[in-house]
Amino acid sequence: MTRAHIIGAGLAGLSAAVQLAQKGVGITLYEQANQAGGRARSFHDSHLDRTIDNGNHLLLSGNYSALDFLAIINASGRLIGPDNARFDFADLETDDRWTINFNRGPVPLWVLYEQSRVPGTSMMDYVAGLKLLTAGNRSVASLFGDQGQMYRRFWEPFSVAVLNTEPNEAVARLLLPVIRETLAKGAEYSKPLVARNGLSDTFVDPALKWLERRKADIRFGQRITSLENDGKQITAIKTARTTEIVEKGDLVVVATPPWVTPTLVEGVEAPDEYAPIVNLHFQVDGFSEAKTDTPMLGLVGSPAHWLFVRDDIISVTVSAAYGLVEKSAREIAAIIWPDVAKVFELDAKSTPPVRVIKEQRATFRTTPQQLNRRAPAKTPFKNLALAGDWTDTGLPATIEGAIRSGVTAVKTLQR
Ligand SMILES: Cc1cc2nc3c(=O)[nH]c(=O)nc-3n(C[C@H](O)[C@H](O)[C@H](O)COP(=O)(O)OP(=O)(O)OC[C@H]3O[C@@H](n4cnc5c(N)ncnc54)[C@H](O)[C@@H]3O)c2cc1C
Repeated sequence: MTRAHIIGAGLAGLSAAVQLAQKGVGITLYEQANQAGGRARSFHDSHLDRTIDNGNHLLLSGNYSALDFLAIINASGRLIGPDNARFDFADLETDDRWTINFNRGPVPLWVLYEQSRVPGTSMMDYVAGLKLLTAGNRSVASLFGDQGQMYRRFWEPFSVAVLNTEPNEAVARLLLPVIRETLAKGAEYSKPLVARNGLSDTFVDPALKWLERRKADIRFGQRITSLENDGKQITAIKTARTTEIVEKGDLVVVATPPWVTPTLVEGVEAPDEYAPIVNLHFQVDGFSEAKTDTPMLGLVGSPAHWLFVRDDIISVTVSAAYGLVEKSAREIAAIIWPDVAKVFELDAKSTPPVRVIKEQRATFRTTPQQLNRRAPAKTPFKNLALAGDWTDTGLPATIEGAIRSGVTAVKTLQR
């Protein structure tokens, strides 16, 4: 029987494994860490005594690859969000608050009415979004930077969240596929979604269980160090101590991050510049979603970008966090907490217990040079395909991109 060897149990590897197992292919999954999930994982934090995610992850209801994946592994209900496509914002410089509430259907009627637009913007500001269609390699800032509040309150936060790159460097056109699959299709496709009980509970544990039920051989603590080939096919997979023979007819998917895959597969180019994300998880005694009508809030005029409330944890995301990532956890918390306290009317002077997580290589930098380095799923080896958020999915480095890359890798192997 055909066996598939999947290297890397992040969401791209899990997605490929699930696709192949669904077709009755036997799975061996190799993961260097002692847990799956890669850059989207949960863990128990002993300092806070809570299970937290390495970073808040936001999806949209138009992320069909992610939703299909969850449906297969029987975990659809674990991604939750409001009934409408509502996004609340606060501007901490001006104290303005507003809500963008996308309407149903592809015609954006909400931009017609001043009270439903971003404050300080006109209808023509939204029409200018069409510049994306001919943006070439222009950055978000060079395309929209002269648009005043429309830039500051919409394009800048939106692009930093999606592209995780400074707006004066980030390639604007990579926003297009995201907009096409979500915002441009209306509210049904634009609802914010978050993991109900954390990323592992939503994406990872159900996938592992589903694979185990199909007798997948899941090997943690196995760092693959090299692949052998005969010029046409991958023939063996090696760790420092073991060699696994890849039998004739077997398949291999390498779903490792961009800084690893080129070390395993000769001739593969991958993005080699990365952008950090800093997440802070504040544990606030007595606080909960019930104490706020904005459990998810975008910030403008603050070093913090997004706030998420789950139980008594207020989590903060700072994307493209170059200015913060080199600072100590204590310094970062001292910079961020006063803004969080201001938003939720808490005591700015006493910082609650906090865990600061710095992901130095959260995603690749979305610059023209780095986009050129994205590799296709297909390789010169007949039985090998690549997956990962950094492969040439046409999407930014996101959960949706990672999961779709696993689907594409499997399709490539079946051609
Ligand atoms: C803090 C943070 C916030 C984010 N926010 C969002 C968000 O809001 N929305 C969103 O959609 N996306 C977000 N992302 C991006 C998203 O997490 C990633 O795009 C996605 O998880 C990448 O999955 P992947 O499988 O491609 O790679 P990875 O998750 O990196 O998986 C690769 C796996 O390969 C393993 N591996 C590496 N080398 C070897 C080896 N030699 N042998 C065996 N195994 C190996 C690794 O341990 C890892 O488990 C965020 C990322 C971070 C870090």
